[in-house]
Amino acid sequence: MSCVSDSSRLNKFLRERYLNLPQGEFCQVTYVWIAYCGMDLCYKTRTMDFTPKTIADIPEWDIIGQTEGFSTEMLLAPVCMFRDPFILDSNKLVLCEVLKNTREPAVFILESNQRNSCNKIMEKVKELHPWFGMEQEYTLLGVDGHPFGWPRLGFPKPQGTYYRCVGADRAFGRDIVECHYKACLYAGIKISGTNPEVMPSQWEFQVGPCEGIEMGDHLWMARFLLHRVCEDFGVVATLDPKPMTGDWNGAGCHINVSTVQMREQGGIEHIDRAIEKLRKRHAEHIRVYDPNGGEDNKRRLIGCQVFSSINDFSAGVANRGASIRIPYRVAQNKCGYFEDRRPAANCDPYAVTCAMARTCMLEGEEELK
Ligand code: ADP
Ligand code: MN
Ligand code: MN
Ligand code: MN
Repeated sequence: MSCVSDSSRLNKFLRERYLNLPQGEFCQVTYVWIAYCGMDLCYKTRTMDFTPKTIADIPEWDIIGQTEGFSTEMLLAPVCMFRDPFILDSNKLVLCEVLKNTREPAVFILESNQRNSCNKIMEKVKELHPWFGMEQEYTLLGVDGHPFGWPRLGFPKPQGTYYRCVGADRAFGRDIVECHYKACLYAGIKISGTNPEVMPSQWEFQVGPCEGIEMGDHLWMARFLLHRVCEDFGVVATLDPKPMTGDWNGAGCHINVSTVQMREQGGIEHIDRAIEKLRKRHAEHIRVYDPNGGEDNKRRLIGCQVFSSINDFSAGVANRGASIRIPYRVAQNKCGYFEDRRPAANCDPYAVTCAMARTCMLEGEEELK
């Protein structure tokens, strides 16, 4: 059996006793931010002597930003507030942008604050009311790095019976999926669904539709909740796009996209136009669809089964092997949305939605080049 962490075996009933203590008028506010290469989530909690009602009630906070070789003062600028599903009301989780002292977006080793530039583009296209829905796939691992529920030596039965299936011999780690779903709903995250994936111990949840910048905000907080729920159970969720080499499924983060024009009658014309623009910018999009400029996705987009090839662009109705899929129902109704299946599970949703808006919703020099 997989290796779970020591802290997950601590007495949780005892913990409950303390969590039930009244906390008076005080409120714990947990600031969450994206650090380093835009991949790690960090947090820090402080006490407020009132209950914040809106994000405007949350003050900025100075932190020491630490990366290899240097430490420098940074500013946490609150952008989005959620209810805390772990220590419950009236405590809050607050997603923040990291700014330098000069109030410019912070850059660590790579660009970590992708939200700032994304938000500027979303402001420019806001009349189009862009909606996004992202499908976050992930894989559960024991603390030893071995997939959760897999035999210690050898492999589970080959893929084919796991996708969207039920049963003790097929679904590994459902507790985490169900608890994460509830936690997201409680927090106020626009989670829209979940399902088991093709590889055993691999799962997916969907967030959306979200308008504009909300997509990145809600997906990042949903990821924070996922890691936090997994911690309670003593396992690890990885967003690695190809956690197991060989004949095992990779993990992606499909993005579904529409504008108000696409959703209206006859909107398929606008969908087709967006796809033609995406065709011309395939390489540029691949560069922003994982945090390593396409390198991570190379292991996943190998052009077989339900994976398009990283080198070729393709689009089709109901085609799950293409880069872009127009759902069958959308083709029938001649309006709706399209799906880009290329983003890797570890993509930055701010970078992906930003690229999507620049290519499909802006003209001329603002376009992604
Ligand atoms: P798939 O069939 O590709 O597995 P899912 O059901 O997993 O699809 O995910 C569909 C996603 O599409 C959801 O996140 C949903 O919120 C999103 N979505 C639905 N309608 C729209 C729309 N009009 N515009 C953008 N996203 C949408
Ligand atoms: Mn899906
Ligand atoms: Mn999927
Ligand atoms: Mn999909």
